[in-house]
Amino acid sequence: MAAPQRLSDFVDGERLWARHMALATFGARADGGVDRPTLSPQEAQARAQMIAWGRAIGLEPFTDKAANLFLRLEGRDPSLAPVVAGSHIDSQPTGGKFDGVFGVLAALETAAAIVARGEQPLRPFEIVAWTNEEGSRFAPGMTGSDLFTGTKALEAVLPIRDADGISIGEAVASILAADDKVPLRAFGLPIAAYVEPHIEQASVLEEAGIPIGIVSGIQGTRRYRIRVMGEAAHAGTALRKDRRDALMAAVRMIRAIDEAAMEPADTLLTVGMLQVTPNAPSVVPAEVFFSIDLRHPDNAVVDRVDAAIRRIVEEMKGNCSVELKQIQHSPSLNFAPAIRSAIAEAAAARGIPAMDVYSAAGHDARQLHYICPAGMIFVPCRGGVSHNPDEWAEPEHLTAGAQVLADVVWHLANSA
Ligand SMILES: [Zn+2]
Repeated sequence: MAAPQRLSDFVDGERLWARHMALATFGARADGGVDRPTLSPQEAQARAQMIAWGRAIGLEPFTDKAANLFLRLEGRDPSLAPVVAGSHIDSQPTGGKFDGVFGVLAALETAAAIVARGEQPLRPFEIVAWTNEEGSRFAPGMTGSDLFTGTKALEAVLPIRDADGISIGEAVASILAADDKVPLRAFGLPIAAYVEPHIEQASVLEEAGIPIGIVSGIQGTRRYRIRVMGEAAHAGTALRKDRRDALMAAVRMIRAIDEAAMEPADTLLTVGMLQVTPNAPSVVPAEVFFSIDLRHPDNAVVDRVDAAIRRIVEEMKGNCSVELKQIQHSPSLNFAPAIRSAIAEAAAARGIPAMDVYSAAGHDARQLHYICPAGMIFVPCRGGVSHNPDEWAEPEHLTAGAQVLADVVWHLANSA
């Protein structure tokens, strides 16, 4: 008797690579990169191609009021929650061929492998392409996964406009109008598990010579805007003791905040923007506006520095006044142990080297993590370069990632 075949034996690396090259023609840049804004005509073409590939192997397309695209392969028990895998097909204006696309095409390759083997999984399996992951046309990003998971409400998101004044609502309507008979579903479909393959966008895997990253979690971020208000005065006549110098106060704050974020050594704290008003050499600064970007994998560290920042701006303001606004808070998260171990086991069973890695960047898997067991599979990208026309991944690494995804999905889709 022949050895039992794994689903990954049916993954076709050449087809996977050819599809990356085919999708890259929609929004192709002259320099080899991709410019495919979310909900644009170029993305509509890529979407139509995905639907055509899916229909050719019997998958059923669905969409929703965020224009998220799902391609469903029915399970033996259609009433069970599906396993979902994918990522996004929008790009940055200076994007590459692999960011997001790899996750969607690896999921399509998994469905193609299931069809080629001719055995239905217990649960349905769905491929997803989330709307506006990148946030470059409409800021912020992650719109599709935010709406699907209920992190944000439709009314809050649809009025957001791009640089030409077109709203997300209008752009979604035009994409949906261009779809060929794709039924609309409600948000919040129960999901059994979510797996997102992605290029690493860092160089840990490449430097280690390891093709598969088992993503342990996503680093948390807090972002702030701080306004220090003093009073303009003549640099030659106003006595130091009488001044309300907003820049001197801001400098005291920034120095103390920098010191508070020295430990542990991998705490990332950046003051990347500083605006001084009136910004004139002989005028005591009346107002300073600056940013803080704070990141660390351990929420306890982020929370401790957060408390220090809030205390320091009050302590160091002197006779100025201060306003602190936190504009973003995404906690650090650890992906589900069951998904991480399924990825580790699938890689080991095929003899593909794998290691744990951490994601410094955000992904749609962050949103999904709050509604179902979620995880990510990273593959190396050359030099860690991404959001750049030179973004590059080796075909054999993409194949390895798709093979691991296929066996992970098969395991999850046959678990009751
Ligand atoms: Zn991405």
